Amino acid sequence: MSLSVFLGGDENRIAYPAAYAILDECAVKAGLRQRIRLRIIPGSGLDGTVSSPFSIYLTEPVLKLKNPQVIRYFIAHELIHIKYWDYLKNIYLHIDYDKFCALRILCEFRADMEGLQLASITGNDIKTVHDIAENPLERADKITCYESGYPERSQRIYYSQKYKDFDVNLFDDVLFDFCFEMKIGKPSVFLRSVKRSFR
Ligand SMILES: [Zn+2]
Repeated sequence: MSLSVFLGGDENRIAYPAAYAILDECAVKAGLRQRIRLRIIPGSGLDGTVSSPFSIYLTEPVLKLKNPQVIRYFIAHELIHIKYWDYLKNIYLHIDYDKFCALRILCEFRADMEGLQLASITGNDIKTVHDIAENPLERADKITCYESGYPERSQRIYYSQKYKDFDVNLFDDVLFDFCFEMKIGKPSVFLRSVKRSFR
């Protein structure tokens, strides 16, 4: 029995060759050497996730989009989560919930910004892609989004256009706003703690 049989088939490579071409191209560009598979998660909305270094998970409606740039955005975004092992930060969910939310929001901005670069999406196309990709869940107000560890879609567009790279200025900008909205006591202590845990 081959290892691929043991680990499960790669039938989506045949079913979605265009998406796989994007996945392979972006994975190489991101410096990821392992073989990464595309898995389908149930859902009628546009969504993606990652829980290991070997697979990205997208809903079928993402793969059926007419706009290939948006498919590129979803794939590149998830690959950046793999690149930085972002799913491991879920451990903070059980240790410090505010910190978990702040880390996840920062990871989202980084996956967006570096993902857009990886997918070569720039300028006005950034807004177009986000407008199509919007998850109805993210249409909640900012505090509701923050409390679930996600930024608002409008923030994703704003920061992706305001900053050229995911840098320390963006990091502080995001965290100061998070502390203010979430009424974090001793924000400077919180900031230092988040900074230490963010990789
Ligand atoms: Zn993400």
